Amino acid sequence: MRIGGIEAGGTKMVCAIGDENGKIIDRVTFPTRGPKETFEDMIGYFRKWEIEALGIGCFGPVDLNKSSKTYGYITSTPKPGWKDTDVVGTFKNALGVPVGFDTDVNGAILGEVTWGAAKGADTAIYITIGTGVGVGVYVNGGLLHGLVHPEAGHMLLAKHPGDSYEGKCPYHRTCLEGLAAGPAIEARWGRKGAELADNADVWELEAFYIAQAVTNYILAYSPQKIILWGGVMHQESLFPMVREKVKEMLSGYISHEMIFEKMDEYIVKPALGEDPGILGAIKLGMLAISEFSINKA
Ligand code: ADP
Ligand code: ZN
Repeated sequence: MRIGGIEAGGTKMVCAIGDENGKIIDRVTFPTRGPKETFEDMIGYFRKWEIEALGIGCFGPVDLNKSSKTYGYITSTPKPGWKDTDVVGTFKNALGVPVGFDTDVNGAILGEVTWGAAKGADTAIYITIGTGVGVGVYVNGGLLHGLVHPEAGHMLLAKHPGDSYEGKCPYHRTCLEGLAAGPAIEARWGRKGAELADNADVWELEAFYIAQAVTNYILAYSPQKIILWGGVMHQESLFPMVREKVKEMLSGYISHEMIFEKMDEYIVKPALGEDPGILGAIKLGMLAISEFSINKA
């Protein structure tokens, strides 16, 4: 079985062909330009491979409501040229196959639940801390959409008393993204995260904010597994610091061995390396096939 997957990002489009076991057979990357040129490249690629279905994990915000007129669109993005872009319709028309669609981070948690670190979990979250912060949420065996889709990267946080930085998010200033994403680190400390690897104060503060958000996600979603990744988490010394602070912040309130004894297995990096997003997209394609046959029956 050949399934196409797209990890659709604001700077690049990772396109791959995979099978039903999560094996990637081929992959290419196209730079994200205007929708027209970018779609043409991707459609050309998938036509060559004669895929049976396509799955897309997409940068957003996106419309995931299947009864909406703009289902499958990128909606209100500030990215030039991409506002109100019909993604699902474009690929369905061009390729004539079932198309699965979700947010990029929901794609990533789906990949990890299916083949990675959250295998076997029915409730798990994927948090990426990079240029922005995104959180994919899988609850009771399905991806969480709700009113729009979760935007838990913008969770509002209490500031550290010693932090005078105003916060970078244009909407909330001091949400998780505004305080802890890569651009916030650079604005606060005057250098990029990767150049600050040896500055303990940077990571102490960073862990304080990430742990606060993770504590809130544990309280709200009750995940069985928490996966953290993205450029900023490549500073891997953050993992033990975040685990320790989460335990402190929960203050014994959630009584479970994962928190008391098995934090190392609870808050982890992806098992799929840099591929949870693209593998999740392939799984979205597989799910679109089963949905397609249910709708036909
Ligand atoms: P994106 O979020 O754009 O998809 P990434 O997940 O790679 O991309 O995140 C990019 C951000 O991560 C940048 O702000 C960069 O400065 C930061 N970053 C990359 N490597 C590191 C590192 N080793 N330590 C801390 N921050 C890093
Ligand atoms: Zn925000």
